[in-house]
Amino acid sequence: MKATVISAVGAGLLLVGTAWASGPGAHWGYSGHEAPEFWGDLSQDYAICKSGKNQSPIDLDSLIEAELSPIVFQYNAVPLNIVNNGHTVQVNYAPGSSITVDGHTYNLLQFHFHTPSENTVKGQFFAMEAHLVHSDDAGNLSVLGVMFEEGAANPFLDGIWVHMPEKAGVSKSLPEMTLNVADMLPANKSYYRFNGSLTTPPCSEGVKWMVFKNPVPVSKAQAEKFHTLMGGDNNRPVQPVNARPVLQ
Ligand SMILES: [Zn+2]
Repeated sequence: MKATVISAVGAGLLLVGTAWASGPGAHWGYSGHEAPEFWGDLSQDYAICKSGKNQSPIDLDSLIEAELSPIVFQYNAVPLNIVNNGHTVQVNYAPGSSITVDGHTYNLLQFHFHTPSENTVKGQFFAMEAHLVHSDDAGNLSVLGVMFEEGAANPFLDGIWVHMPEKAGVSKSLPEMTLNVADMLPANKSYYRFNGSLTTPPCSEGVKWMVFKNPVPVSKAQAEKFHTLMGGDNNRPVQPVNARPVLQ
């Protein structure tokens, strides 16, 4: 009798197991049944998208004044390697570029874009947001956010936009074209700082976020080109701040 009960529980667990049919790398998106509100249910690996208490993005409000040390940039020019992964357009950065914050160094891995912005400031969206994703040697992530405000055409983006692969899953490597993402950053590098997560599945937490206070320009045509290529918005809605302080 006891054995039967155990086997029934076992069968139950098996059924729960198959409910997570999609498993690691499950499909996700920004609309329909794969929209952000369902990410936590799409795969067990994405559970923290729903249960996490330190999720990104957030609305930057209720700011706490703090002495934030300047970010030290060590960014080099690299050959263009660009991929349309279906969720964003990402520029992969060759090794050797880094930032240092409070004596801790993070290596730049890649940067990519979201339209409209993911983080908001006092409830306001920006036209676009770029994320510069860094990792230290132990795998701890730090993301730098750059806000784009609608205005003049951005020459740095022009250099990238002409090479954006139109089809998802396509990447291009152009060794003859070099770029330095330092050229995309605002002149005034004051920033907001908070803890958060990846803004895409698996929504892993423990990510150190820094978002520049000052936006850089993007033309309406540039933002629209990216938005059209992505087939619509590719921003996760803001998440509860909970107990997190946002420093400025
Ligand atoms: Zn991002």
